Amino acid sequence: MTRVLPRPFRVLITVKTYPRPSRQYEELVCMAGVEPTLGFVRLYPISFRRLPYEQQYRKYQWIEVTAIKNASDPRPDSYRPRADTIRAVGKPLPAGDWAERKDVVLPFASESLEQIQHARREGGPSLGLFKPEAVSDFDWEATHRDWTPPQRARLSQGKLFAEDLTPLEKIPYDFRYRFRCNAPGCRTHHIGISDWEVGRLYLRMREQYAESTALEKVRDKFLTQLCGPTVDTYFFVGTSRIPYETWIILGVFYPPRQDQVPLPIADS
Ligand SMILES: [Zn+2]
Repeated sequence: MTRVLPRPFRVLITVKTYPRPSRQYEELVCMAGVEPTLGFVRLYPISFRRLPYEQQYRKYQWIEVTAIKNASDPRPDSYRPRADTIRAVGKPLPAGDWAERKDVVLPFASESLEQIQHARREGGPSLGLFKPEAVSDFDWEATHRDWTPPQRARLSQGKLFAEDLTPLEKIPYDFRYRFRCNAPGCRTHHIGISDWEVGRLYLRMREQYAESTALEKVRDKFLTQLCGPTVDTYFFVGTSRIPYETWIILGVFYPPRQDQVPLPIADS
């Protein structure tokens, strides 16, 4: 077997998933972004909330990181970052500036979700980007309201080392998009979205509103705004690994349509 050495990457972060409790690292985040020569790469695991301030970064931030191909992960685009090597490069790309984001991201867009899935079955990437032809719904399904006892134990274990860390809240809903992609004969997809911003927005809205209103506010942003007529909506997708590879939406890419005045949609 060829020994793969850690190598430095320069990655534009485009995706951050909501944290999950894990056995070894308490809270784990999966981040993905574009490495200009490789395309999309997944950086996992990252214990994001523990990173020192100067190592934290936002979406559309260029970072430098030393990472190694994750030998225990069969997906070709999964890399294990060395947390102490993560460095933010410059400031995040400004919210209204889509030109550089598009230059970096769109060369790696595929025609359809089916095309991405087909390539994966042939051993290709487990991450991709495509433009859905029509997004018809954003809905949710109630799920467990709290962490399972083993998950809770893992989280409280972490707290021994960082008393000031607010406990990670369980999001009691799974959010999903329903859409058709550009593949000939596409029969509609109904798949989950794991974007950190969906969970964060839900929690923020629930502080101000009843739960049902908070859910509608999330729908308003992720369906009405991010899939509205003034933007070109793309979905970042990837496979979740356990128990087998299931496709989920990791985030939304929504540059303003060329013929429209940009809407002031806050960066999520
Ligand atoms: Zn399709």
